[in-house]
Amino acid sequence: MSERVKSWVNRQLSLGEFSSRAQVVRRSAAMALRITVLAYGLNVSAHLFLYAAGLLPYDLFDALVIATVLTPFVALTVAFIAYYVVGLAVYELSVSHAEFERLSKTDSLSGLLNRRAFLKACETAVSPVALVILDVDRFKSINDSLGHAAGDDVIVAIAAQLEGRSGGGHIVSRIGGEEFAVLVCGLSSEETMRFVEALRQAVRDRPIAVGEGSVSVTISAGIADWLPGRSFDEVFSHADRALYLAKVAGRDRIVHEREIANVGRVIRFNTDPIAETIRNAMGIHG
Ligand code: GH3
Ligand code: MG
Ligand code: MG
Repeated sequence: MSERVKSWVNRQLSLGEFSSRAQVVRRSAAMALRITVLAYGLNVSAHLFLYAAGLLPYDLFDALVIATVLTPFVALTVAFIAYYVVGLAVYELSVSHAEFERLSKTDSLSGLLNRRAFLKACETAVSPVALVILDVDRFKSINDSLGHAAGDDVIVAIAAQLEGRSGGGHIVSRIGGEEFAVLVCGLSSEETMRFVEALRQAVRDRPIAVGEGSVSVTISAGIADWLPGRSFDEVFSHADRALYLAKVAGRDRIVHEREIANVGRVIRFNTDPIAETIRNAMGIHG
């Protein structure tokens, strides 16, 4: 019984969570009212008890008048101030906690999810799902020729393109310097290829504003399907291999993991110097 009373009192008096300052005020007022009723009830009961026991040193009527005038005023004021001060502290703590949570998931330059948050978000993805790793081509030369700030502008612009074209349906993140990962959700393999191809063309066709001028950039991408039974690390390594192939095959292109074997077959006996480079890069030996 005492446990139930204790939990009831705890429930009545607990601060809970606050979503705004206005809610702190409303909840403080409601709490202060409850405490006032409780305090007034206790005050009157104590007087009646003392009166019944013949221990009340003054007139009962006067005592009840004073209790009625003073108790609500004092209890309401003190309880409201106490709840408001503590409630505000709890609210501000929860705001800074939420901000801290947001910052810990966000890449500060692009505003996209960071690598850690991306991995976490991938855990909840539902099939069909494909992983795309995209990398800006020859990005170092942009930094070298136009400066680091221009490089940052390029990263921000490409992040915005990725986010805009994903329309909230896919999970987009920046996983490294000029490297992005997109978990494409709910598209068939062909639709995924079309989506990434459109992205590649859009980046190539739209120069990015940097400082006073603009710069044209291209991206390469590797794609792997997240098939049932595959771990994330396996999918990632397949997409990364496909990206690598896109790079050694000349950049500004997308490669699906299933093309790796085909490309390997085609270039195995090719004497062209590019084929030789690809063979070496992919570790393919005739
Ligand atoms: P590739 O086509 O093979 O991808 O060549 P790349 O030049 O793009 O690749 P590389 O890995 O050689 O260079 C990446 C550069 O990106 C090197 C690094 O200094 C730069 N970088 C990494 N993070 C940032 C960043 O946040 N801002 C800027 N501006 N540069 C960055
Ligand atoms: Mg690059
Ligand atoms: Mg890179």
